[in-house]
Amino acid sequence: MFLLLLLSLCALLLEGHAQDRAALWRGNDRAGRCQYTFTVQSPTETSCPQAGGPELEGLKARLSLLEVLVSRLSGGDAGGPQGAGSRGQPELRDALSKAVGERNLLQGEKERLEQELQGLQRRMEEMMRETERLRSRPCPLHTPIVPPSPPVQGGGLLRPAAGSSSMSHLVSRPNRQGDSSSLRDSTWQIGSQGFQELKAEVTEVPAPVGSEDLTGCGDLISVGEPVTHRKADNIEGKYGVWMQDPEAVSPYGPNMIWRIDTVGSDIRKLFGYDDMVQLSKGFPSKVLLLPEQVESTGSTMYRGSLYYQRRRSRTLIRYDLASESTAARRDLPHAGFHGQFPYSWGGYTDIDLSVDEQGLWAVYSTNKAKGAIVISQLDPHSLEVKRSWETQIRKNSVANSFIICGKLYTVASYTAANTMINYMYDTETSQGKPVSIPLKNKYHYNSMIDYNRAQRKLFAWDNFHIVSYDIRLSRQQVN
Ligand code: CA
Repeated sequence: MFLLLLLSLCALLLEGHAQDRAALWRGNDRAGRCQYTFTVQSPTETSCPQAGGPELEGLKARLSLLEVLVSRLSGGDAGGPQGAGSRGQPELRDALSKAVGERNLLQGEKERLEQELQGLQRRMEEMMRETERLRSRPCPLHTPIVPPSPPVQGGGLLRPAAGSSSMSHLVSRPNRQGDSSSLRDSTWQIGSQGFQELKAEVTEVPAPVGSEDLTGCGDLISVGEPVTHRKADNIEGKYGVWMQDPEAVSPYGPNMIWRIDTVGSDIRKLFGYDDMVQLSKGFPSKVLLLPEQVESTGSTMYRGSLYYQRRRSRTLIRYDLASESTAARRDLPHAGFHGQFPYSWGGYTDIDLSVDEQGLWAVYSTNKAKGAIVISQLDPHSLEVKRSWETQIRKNSVANSFIICGKLYTVASYTAANTMINYMYDTETSQGKPVSIPLKNKYHYNSMIDYNRAQRKLFAWDNFHIVSYDIRLSRQQVN
């Protein structure tokens, strides 16, 4: 039996040898493990073209080169025969890091644009529903007495005040530019049922009787031409906020200008410039790294502190410039954030902080206000809300707002070259009214506008450009 098996094996071997191609190899593979390879000639193919030989050697050489390159890029052996190549490693890393940074910035910008698009789609659907609702109502048989026109905000609708049925019987429709201040349709009278659906639950807290230190205050009557001070150097500065402390505190002087570029996923750099000249030259004298990230363009500067909204939260932070640390933090009660109630341009502009003659303010909205602008005066030390007003202005229907002498002004469009400041709300009387004050968006994408009390100007950030506007108030001196 054993002999028979031996003979069969010999026969097989002889037959394999006769084919002249069978072979067995043994060797270590790339991982160091033993590998056996048994090769038999194919019954249909007598040989592989160029098997082994020069092609295999070429592949081995290229593989070796690739291994060396991978090793360098991954921070491996920097020495070796190609030591000269290691000099290029820092440059490669820098380029890689820069490319990754730019990719992150672009991703952030993409997110913002997607959010803006969603917001616009929501507004469009809302307006279409509103239009259908209005169309379904019969026209009145007689022409109604036209009450004062409601404020019109950049293509949106305003909420009528609760209980004020004499107000806002009219609905305005935007023109193509989104500026609709001159369009009205007096025949569109809203019935009581639909009207109720639009109402915000307004509970306005009355302003205190009398006023404090309003010297030099008055109503805004005109805004000058935009003056450009600086263009941002890179995409991080497409949007941003710039500020000047009207009550500066040592170690920084009253001329100090502050700036935050707000494009990116980790916004924490606060640049300080000694004065406007240094700002226009782009030479900061101070760069502070904030302990927590900044959300959007609503920051402001007051009494030696930066006030800002922490990213993805309704938390307000007071950052003390002198000690370079957080001095106070507090949630702004019920405030929408991170795209819940932004201005019409989006950009997570849910909470807009500013300073005027009467102190520190926050402009935002809440679920209770259903998207209408809420104004709160804040304690600058503790960030507590001292007093609140709920307006009838839908926040996502205006491009931005600013406060001068306790009066909130809204801007109709952030893109139209010639737009309007179209509404004013006075916290002293808790009343609002439409206004028509021309404003120019020179660079067609205004992402921040605030009143600066130190220079009595409007500060704005318009599509990479830091600009200011002179303003005129109705009464420059009261006393
Ligand atoms: Ca603002």
